Amino acid sequence: MSDLSTIRLKPRKALPFFCRHPWVFEGAIQSVSGHPVVGAEVRLESSEGQFIARGLYNPGSKIRVRLYSWQDRPLDEEFWRTRIEQAVGLRRQLAGSQATATSGERLIFSEGDGISGLTVDRYGHWLLTQWTSAALAERRELLISILQQVVQPRGIWRRTERGIGDLEGLSAVDGLAVGEEPPRPLEIVENDLVYEVDVIEGQKTGFYFDQRDNRLAVARYAAGARVLDICTYTGSFAMNVLKHGNAADVLAVDSSRPALELAARNVARNGLGDRVTFEASDAFDKLEALAAAGEKFDLVVLDPPKLARSRGGMQRAIKGYIRMNRLGMQVLRSGGILATCSCSGQLSRTDFEQVVVQAAQQAHCEVQILEQRGQAPDHPVSAHCLETNYLKCFICRVHHDG
Ligand code: SAH
Repeated sequence: MSDLSTIRLKPRKALPFFCRHPWVFEGAIQSVSGHPVVGAEVRLESSEGQFIARGLYNPGSKIRVRLYSWQDRPLDEEFWRTRIEQAVGLRRQLAGSQATATSGERLIFSEGDGISGLTVDRYGHWLLTQWTSAALAERRELLISILQQVVQPRGIWRRTERGIGDLEGLSAVDGLAVGEEPPRPLEIVENDLVYEVDVIEGQKTGFYFDQRDNRLAVARYAAGARVLDICTYTGSFAMNVLKHGNAADVLAVDSSRPALELAARNVARNGLGDRVTFEASDAFDKLEALAAAGEKFDLVVLDPPKLARSRGGMQRAIKGYIRMNRLGMQVLRSGGILATCSCSGQLSRTDFEQVVVQAAQQAHCEVQILEQRGQAPDHPVSAHCLETNYLKCFICRVHHDG
């Protein structure tokens, strides 16, 4: 044990880590023994010298230590293999069978699976890895070889999220880690709908699996509806309300032209092309214009990108969410359905309820929240790291005054 550095916490800082929160910020640390380098395994102790957990050190990150084990035993190959097998085991249980060539899922969800700093999505026979911790990335080869043995994919592709490189001191090298390159585009089927996915150039990891169940849930309210799908990306909500909800038609909006081209191909591919109109526009501009024109929809889906990226930006983000939801309510007919989402982990479910309350106040509406939904179970929420409880999808019924 003597070769491991010890990270000693300041007094009264230990509770979150005894409760297994995995992020130790620099401000909680009293002292560091030795000179641990990026990726060094370290032991975390309370100010009284009691062992808490083992983790990996990064002197260049605000998250100085990411914790992985609350037992005082090495973070060795066996440890990582067990963690990865547990994660993969959950998905096999959820899918009820082996992975197929056209199915997709989140295979490893970072803190949600006790592997802070690694996200892996499976697209058919390919895996897409994203590293968000430089310390964990030091073990890239080991973890990739374990993934290869446990999952046996045809190839593993590596991506680094924009912005993370600077926060963590990670070099953002995208490319093939092992095996064959993924085909472009790759095809996956979700909720009986076919999607073209470009895992190499697409946003994030190409497809948002977290909304899988919400897409079906929203479709239940769509019979005969005129639908507005704000931030449509792959066209997924639009297609689900048509295919599973028998909606009348959809106006689908996104600011990204490449996203809309992809969405249009998906819609055509699924034989739904005649019922979707696409528009390349800023979401706020389009909502303002529709409201000004007095347009009314029966169902509005709001699925914007993360408006809150940091705690500092929260107030601005909340204003943005309130404004978008106020506009969403204004373009609904009275009695219509608003499906409103937020994927900002910094914004709690209670905060998001308050967004709906404020928006309703401003739009002079009465709102009933029918369903408060979260992310699909292949994005498990860690009870010890509630930041993993990031996706909110509230399905609401909205009545206008008068
Ligand atoms: N609804 C999608 C996911 C949306 S992701 C799904 O179920 O998969 C967010 C989308 O918002 C992205 O496609 C992005 O291009 C788009 N976007 C980002 N900023 C925007 C803006 N200001 N106006 C409109 N669309 C925006």
